[in-house]
Amino acid sequence: MDFALSDEQQMFHDLFRDFAENEVAPCAEQTDRDEAIPTALLQKAAAQGFLGATLPEQYGGAAMDYLSYSLLVETVARHCLSMAAALGIHTMLSSMTILDGGSEAVKAEFLPRLAGGELGTFALTEPEAGSDAGAVQTRAVPEGEYYRLDGVKAWVSNAGQAGAHVVLALTTPGARLRGLSAFVVDAQTPGIFLGQREPTLGLRGLDIRTMYFEGCRVPASHLLGQLDHGWALVQRAFRRVRLSLAAAGLGAAGGALALGLKFAAERKQFGVPIAEKQAIQNYAADCAVEIEALRHLVHHTAWQADQGQDYESSASMAKYLAARVARDTANKMLQVHGGYGFSDEYAISRIYRDVRALRLLGGTDEIQRFAIARVLFEPEGLALQP
Ligand SMILES: Cc1cc2nc3c(=O)[nH]c(=O)nc-3n(C[C@H](O)[C@H](O)[C@H](O)COP(=O)(O)OP(=O)(O)OC[C@H]3O[C@@H](n4cnc5c(N)ncnc54)[C@H](O)[C@@H]3O)c2cc1C
Repeated sequence: MDFALSDEQQMFHDLFRDFAENEVAPCAEQTDRDEAIPTALLQKAAAQGFLGATLPEQYGGAAMDYLSYSLLVETVARHCLSMAAALGIHTMLSSMTILDGGSEAVKAEFLPRLAGGELGTFALTEPEAGSDAGAVQTRAVPEGEYYRLDGVKAWVSNAGQAGAHVVLALTTPGARLRGLSAFVVDAQTPGIFLGQREPTLGLRGLDIRTMYFEGCRVPASHLLGQLDHGWALVQRAFRRVRLSLAAAGLGAAGGALALGLKFAAERKQFGVPIAEKQAIQNYAADCAVEIEALRHLVHHTAWQADQGQDYESSASMAKYLAARVARDTANKMLQVHGGYGFSDEYAISRIYRDVRALRLLGGTDEIQRFAIARVLFEPEGLALQP
């Protein structure tokens, strides 16, 4: 068993750290206030190859393995969870689904753009279709060489900053998941209307919108995978994004702990730094233990993905644990900050708001536990339904 990073992974890690500390960290507060990832930051990420992190080089990607990619997301999330989430949705849900299901012409058209600075989205959720993706109502109806899209998509991350959308629509009404197909849609296509950015508790840098498709004509060649087989693409996309969100939770927890340690070493009460009080030490130690346990699960899951192993259940476990560790760490480290932690002037309050989203997006905690339990009960001859 070898726990060491390869030379290449170590080199990537150093590069990520430079980028996160010098480019991401200085804009984290502004990203939260402006409710968008700064365009200049996206361009810098693209220039470093990070927007095409796992795409093959022929499409402008950096051809990273999943472990390196996880280190990228973790490192970015230490400073800005909005940026890490935007990156995860762009890469794991959008670009990689186009790579997974697109024809050669579609891949050549969209992937270099997505690696080069345009963001991608993944529009699955609808007002009446959340955890139950089988309830999707958006229709894609064939019209000659095109499909005509009509419907409403909710909670589409990156929507206001996107160049391309991956959209899940019903091609066989009444068939639920067996009638779902995926399309890639150029953001400039007529018939797409965006709502205002959703006002949210946290992850305010993530540009989340409702999208309206009204007579939006998409070339039939932009179908991803086979007709009515979109759900298989979604399942693989979920697996990837759960790993990504787990790495993001790991990074956010690490960032929160670092802030808490620094504050505790500097803040004096009763004549000594509060770090000298055992109550504070216990908070720090408990968080460090949880973070290290999470790190092993995230890295192991990424390693499974790199080996081509089935990592579906591990990805759900990692994502579920990451949401809990990030929440608990942010909560404890806010406590370490005392009243200052409740002030917008201190980054810990932003992290506290941001990490709450990890229990929701990419499948809720309840859905992750279901996914884990379904595998556990399989040997007992049960086929559990959500
Ligand atoms: C910050 C953020 C970004 C997002 N980005 C995107 C995006 O880019 N693209 C996209 O398509 N979607 C996105 N979403 C939507 C997200 O995927 C959904 O919020 C999520 O799938 C849950 O759906 P819902 O909100 O409709 O809740 P519901 O499905 O209505 O669930 C409500 C509650 O019931 C529970 N529940 C539901 N069904 C079951 C069950 N069978 N067993 C047990 N409990 C159950 C849920 O766990 C939850 O606690 C985003 C959400 C957030 C918060």
